Amino acid sequence: MRPEILFPLFAPVDSLKGAGPKITPLLEKVAGPLVRDLVFTAPYNLIFRTRATAKTAVEGQVQTFEVVVHQHLRPAKAGAPYKIRVGDDTGFMHLIYFKVFGDHLEKKMKVGSRWTVSGKVERFGSEVQIAHPDYVIPEGSDEFPPPVEAVYPATAGMTSRQLHLFIHRALARAPDFPEWQDAAWVKQEYFPTWREALALLHTPSSEADIAPSAPSRRRLAYDELLAHQLALGQRKKARQAEPAPKIIPGEPSAVLQNALPFTLTGAQTRALADIRADLARGVRMSRLLHGDVGSGKTVVAALAMADAASSGFQAALMAPTEILARQHYDRLKPLWEAAGLDGVLLTGRDKGKARQQKLAWIAEGSIQFVFGTHALFQETVEFRKLGLVVLDEQHRFGVAQRQQLQDKGRAVHVLALSATPIPRTLELTQFGDLEVSRLDEKPPGRKPVATRAIPTARIGEVVRRLKTVLESGAQAYWICPLVSESEVSDLAAAEARWGDLTRALGDGVGLVHGRMSGPDKDAVMTAFSEGRIRLLVATTVVEVGVDVPNATIMVIEHAERFGLAQLHQLRGRVGRGAAESACILLYDGKLSEAATTRLDVLRKTEDGFEIAETDWALRGGGDLLGLKQSGFPDYRIADPVAHRDLLFAAAKDARMVLQKGFEGERGAALRILTELYDWRPDKTDAPA
Ligand code: ADP
Ligand code: MG
Repeated sequence: MRPEILFPLFAPVDSLKGAGPKITPLLEKVAGPLVRDLVFTAPYNLIFRTRATAKTAVEGQVQTFEVVVHQHLRPAKAGAPYKIRVGDDTGFMHLIYFKVFGDHLEKKMKVGSRWTVSGKVERFGSEVQIAHPDYVIPEGSDEFPPPVEAVYPATAGMTSRQLHLFIHRALARAPDFPEWQDAAWVKQEYFPTWREALALLHTPSSEADIAPSAPSRRRLAYDELLAHQLALGQRKKARQAEPAPKIIPGEPSAVLQNALPFTLTGAQTRALADIRADLARGVRMSRLLHGDVGSGKTVVAALAMADAASSGFQAALMAPTEILARQHYDRLKPLWEAAGLDGVLLTGRDKGKARQQKLAWIAEGSIQFVFGTHALFQETVEFRKLGLVVLDEQHRFGVAQRQQLQDKGRAVHVLALSATPIPRTLELTQFGDLEVSRLDEKPPGRKPVATRAIPTARIGEVVRRLKTVLESGAQAYWICPLVSESEVSDLAAAEARWGDLTRALGDGVGLVHGRMSGPDKDAVMTAFSEGRIRLLVATTVVEVGVDVPNATIMVIEHAERFGLAQLHQLRGRVGRGAAESACILLYDGKLSEAATTRLDVLRKTEDGFEIAETDWALRGGGDLLGLKQSGFPDYRIADPVAHRDLLFAAAKDARMVLQKGFEGERGAALRILTELYDWRPDKTDAPA
């Protein structure tokens, strides 16, 4: 239940004086439906108004003048502006108005009367003018244009100044809350109270006041981040109360592990231990396994699946593409067969009797493992005793698909694998309610991939080099990215490139793209992994998970159009075997400074986590990896980059508060905070 003290802030915006049927929808659009949303709408800029005379007026500045009206100049022809000639002791200027009808201006601003006017100064030849001044105040009024003014997001029909007025009315409703932050922390950070911070937020007097580093902004950011971390933590706690099967490793797990041609890395062993501890607990696991491309997530997942089978449960692995589901199935099959277990691959291509048979096995429980795409959960696949779901490349699944999984997955453990190493900041904001294991160590023996950026003009040279390398028995990828918005012309570009390369290199050049049918794609991928295709021209369908160790060269066209993380993912397709590998980034035109820095990062390191952190910092928190669409929280004040120190502090603080169960005076005040921000689970986007 919402505490009473919050009622004034949770009133609809139309409860404010002056918010009629015309302005209310605009307020809702810019800020939100509630009074609260208005007080949290921050100014993003400042206007400084200086005083000036006709002589000292500076073009482009916002200035205030005291003038006498000399003459009204009505438009000579339709469409021309209405002008008022005004002046002071130093000279003349014009106030310009468009679309003036009738004589109301003439009546209001009589010739000879004195006014204070303020607005943006323009120069028209030798003439100084102000078009539609912000302020026109008669002599003798006690109003005066403010020397500093906060600028808010405007919208058609509502100016920043109008919004500011409503924000001030909203602010008058903000109560004095009990302090919900820790006293020592408040002192250390020089935080003003919540109420003071809001007042400062809306009456900035210098650039420093609207900077993210201003104590008032930091205070409000910390409130917001803490509220979010508390909401995530509460959700985690609730999930940990959901019962789920107890799963413990048994004989088949041991056999499967012994059948591996390698020993697990330290990171794999640690992740597996985390997972096993979760599975044995009898409450639902929701763990994210973060590991760079090639860090060996699959085998960790396979061992957890074997654990499920050992305890008499079924396990399902869902991959974002059929190619990948099939690859997992083919790779893991010999391993589980060694352990006396059975599995099926179920895709949209299984039809009729064969499909019915597979579904029957799954329902009877005569098979332990099911591999497929998300279609597994979209239809009526009935499991006899599902205990664990593995979600490979979870970031490729949409929000709706994850929701479906969650609905189906009651009382089922979920292990999500992600090859997108993300900065810790994002890990906390996006997955704060999940358990996270990181594979921060690669299997031994990986050679670094020599990465070079080469202008597209030198493509002939690249093809000649490629020819030599292919003749020596190596294999290569050639990536054609999205060139245009149209799939058809992108495909045409890839096909044209395939034609060029076939002419230059002869047979053994294959093409795979997203518009091919499943069986056609598989045929090409199989030919590539068996070495019958030496060079694979591909659109970005290969980005996800494909593993062909003999492929050692990766050429990426239009590298400048890819994000850093995506380039890193693509590059991860090579450097998987014992041979030296190379990645050639072809770029068009001259690289911008930012693009050069980004490519440099890629050249210098292969640590995905480091690349992600750098990309994040370079882009200033822009839409890294497209995470915004995939549910990155929409903070009102907090800036995950500028306030990352606060984010880490908030995460720690939240853990402590939840451990103690919102106890004492601070606990009670924090309940108000969480209600004030009102983060709902559906606003966050964890995989399950
Ligand atoms: P990803 O984490 O990108 O899904 P994979 O699970 O596909 O990586 O593993 C990449 C390659 O590394 C596979 O060929 C796999 O057999 C191999 N691999 C995994 N773990 C180890 C290990 N501990 N030692 C050696 N090779 C390993
Ligand atoms: Mg993988």
